[in-house]
Amino acid sequence: MKLLLLAGTHGVEKQSSYFLDCFFDDYKEHFTAFTNTPLLEKLSISKLFGLEASDYEHNCKSIEKNQILESNQEATDEIIAIPVLNPTGLKNLSRTNSNKVDLNRNMPSKNWEYGKLKVDGEANPYYPGEFPKSELETQILTQIIEDHTIDLVVSFHTNHFVKNKNDAQINYDGKGKHKTWAENLAKLSNLPFTEDIGYPTPGSLGSYAKEQNFDCITVEFEDSDSEEQIYESYKNSFFESIKKLFEKDA
Ligand SMILES: [Zn+2]
Repeated sequence: MKLLLLAGTHGVEKQSSYFLDCFFDDYKEHFTAFTNTPLLEKLSISKLFGLEASDYEHNCKSIEKNQILESNQEATDEIIAIPVLNPTGLKNLSRTNSNKVDLNRNMPSKNWEYGKLKVDGEANPYYPGEFPKSELETQILTQIIEDHTIDLVVSFHTNHFVKNKNDAQINYDGKGKHKTWAENLAKLSNLPFTEDIGYPTPGSLGSYAKEQNFDCITVEFEDSDSEEQIYESYKNSFFESIKKLFEKDA
């Protein structure tokens, strides 16, 4: 079972990075206990952008690009965590990265769609970049998914309001393999389970997952909740669910 935990795709949704950073540190020992040939990594990509690791990456080792992409062929189980996919966005508390690209519209899925940088004179919050995978962040992400033959990505967000209102939820994209697991996670977390987020998401990680050989679960926490509230409310259900994921697979 190769699991990728991802957060901070949208810098403004900082609670997601806080959640994953704390979660990985607090449960790392437990993960080691239930994974075979465990490969546990928390990756910091801040240095690639000339930034110091943010407050949310307090204990990250800094990893150069070639190390990020290194995979352990021996590992049968892996848990990789990327608490901050968009370090420049987190620094500026913006949805997009420093090139004004929405990283969750820049994935190389077949439904990737061209979009303008500005709409009605205002910055387009969903600007997908000049072409699919134009951004370093999405290049790193797709490379990790491929190199590590990731089975499941759990991608943490908040429902920070942009143009389309969406509720806090657990959203599933994939071919069915981890659908029941996602439904159970939703039940345990007391969040609604959905398979359609309610609006088109061309070039999103979920769209990409549907075409590739992995599943993607997008977790939308309630944006008005504080980092601490979210962490306390959901850490147990996520830990228990992840534990089951590895038991079942073994
Ligand atoms: Zn988001």
